[in-house]
Amino acid sequence: MGIALKKDFGQIKEVLGRCLRLLCPACGESKIVTHPFHIRHHCPHCFALFKREDGFFVGAILANVVTTELVILVVCFFFLLIVGAQYQSVLALLFVMALVFPVAFYHHSWSLWLGFDFIVESLPKYTPPKSTKS
Ligand SMILES: [Zn+2]
Repeated sequence: MGIALKKDFGQIKEVLGRCLRLLCPACGESKIVTHPFHIRHHCPHCFALFKREDGFFVGAILANVVTTELVILVVCFFFLLIVGAQYQSVLALLFVMALVFPVAFYHHSWSLWLGFDFIVESLPKYTPPKSTKS
């Protein structure tokens, strides 16, 4: 039994494009980031909820860690096997990359995780709390 995706290939490409531009994966009308390193709670246009239950952010961390490791692996193999650079200088480069890349990729890891979640099960809608004034 596989995961039944709720989107066709064209929609998946559209969602991926929105993710790369840090836009809401559901409507593409607003940014998911308000300030650097601050993800919106929900989309002000379509009310798709970005900050879901506790622990939802772990998927974004996973996307960040896996992408960082893949990039480091590719850069390591490229410089050692193709360029033929010295091992010590490649290690220094990889160390700097391991510190900088996850920080620079923070917003996109959130965006990709939200896009993945939107493709698989759609994002729930935010319902503002009802006013207690009468
Ligand atoms: Zn939206």
